[in-house]
Amino acid sequence: MKAVTPMNSNYKIETKCIQEGWKPENGEARVLPIFQSTTYKYESGEHLGKLFDLEADGHMYTRISNPTVACVEEKIASLEGGVGAMMLSSGQAASMSAVLNIANSGDNFVCSAAIYGGTTNLFAVTFKRLGIEVRFVTPGMTDDDIHALFDDRTRLVFGETIANPALDVFDIEHFAGIAHSHNVPLVIDNTFATPILCRPFEFGADIVVHSTTKYMDGHATVVGGVIVDGGKFDWEAAGKYPELCTPDESYHGVVYTKQFGAAAYITKARVQLLRDMGNSPQPMAAFLLNMGLETLALRMERHSDNALAVAKYLEAHPNVSWVNYPALESSSDYEKCKKYLGGRSCGVISFGVRGGRSAAMKFMNSLELASIVVHVADARTSVLHPASTTHRQLTDEQLVNAGIGADLVRLSVGIENVSDIIADIDNALSKVN
Ligand SMILES: *Cc1c(COP(=O)(O)O)cnc(C)c1O
Repeated sequence: MKAVTPMNSNYKIETKCIQEGWKPENGEARVLPIFQSTTYKYESGEHLGKLFDLEADGHMYTRISNPTVACVEEKIASLEGGVGAMMLSSGQAASMSAVLNIANSGDNFVCSAAIYGGTTNLFAVTFKRLGIEVRFVTPGMTDDDIHALFDDRTRLVFGETIANPALDVFDIEHFAGIAHSHNVPLVIDNTFATPILCRPFEFGADIVVHSTTKYMDGHATVVGGVIVDGGKFDWEAAGKYPELCTPDESYHGVVYTKQFGAAAYITKARVQLLRDMGNSPQPMAAFLLNMGLETLALRMERHSDNALAVAKYLEAHPNVSWVNYPALESSSDYEKCKKYLGGRSCGVISFGVRGGRSAAMKFMNSLELASIVVHVADARTSVLHPASTTHRQLTDEQLVNAGIGADLVRLSVGIENVSDIIADIDNALSKVN
């Protein structure tokens, strides 16, 4: 096995996208190889025993780790500025394990209501069945209301940098302060922003999750997720995480905070949850994701430029009743966009077609270049009506809390030439009235 070099580069993020992770030696493949192997060979039984006791570094079994996967984890940890990362089979698996790593039956956590619909289902329905309660922060709550959601069984706070599909920009620094005042970590889903637009650890977040299925892959080829550990949260001082600070009997009494220090959280997530639940990524998936990551910085730049131009065009169009894009000066989140995202946003725009639900459908059906897909956030321009598709399980109240109206069209602006994208939209809008 080829050990991954520790993250030590001071390269800029565009360079890291290309250069971090796989570091070949003399005569080795220049491109990250796919180690399509479930198993690894050892010179002695003693060495394997040490691996099982977490006393030696190395790969045991691909459910827990794999050299191809490890290189991509290394790259993503470096892009986010974390101490370690763990890939999973999907973004859903990442959100699930990020919470289950530190919350047990009887515990609860505080969560922004403006999050991805699949995450809402996971938290409000499936976690409830496991005895873990989500407490949503709904629009209009004061800080006092939010503080009142916490009790001594609250284990974390969860939010999305740019909410899918509401596009609210989460006030990371503010919520980090609230979370830390209750001795719990802030977990951020950074899927839409990517580390190119925002690195949540720089604003006090403790754990980052991604659906890598979106911009990180960027080509709509492979479903995946990742958890990144910022390494700064003091689990021992917080005094409420025995699973990290007391012996794990399934590893001969290992205490994660003692043995793994800053990487306690991410190590436990791997050696316990990935081992037991098995929602691991395939080496081939890691290879494809790595190809996407190599161009992430370049693609995000184009997504940002194209989407801002489209948003400005929509804002001026008489058949458009409203446009929501955080990088528009008219956006109520513009100040947060400047603070957290450098004044840019991703390719996703939401807007209302004048005439409501039926006009929105007519508009979608008239597009030619932009295709109707469930997926967002890849290289191709695409369009979706969330209220009748991705978010149809939500109640009307949950829809309002998630910031989604029945007239909302979600446009995922790709990296094609922007004049072709605008011409397509212009043609479709001319047909709605
Ligand atoms: C898509 C998405 C997820 C779920 O990821 P999958 O890879 O589809 O499982 C989670 N969070 C956000 C913000 C997403 O957009």
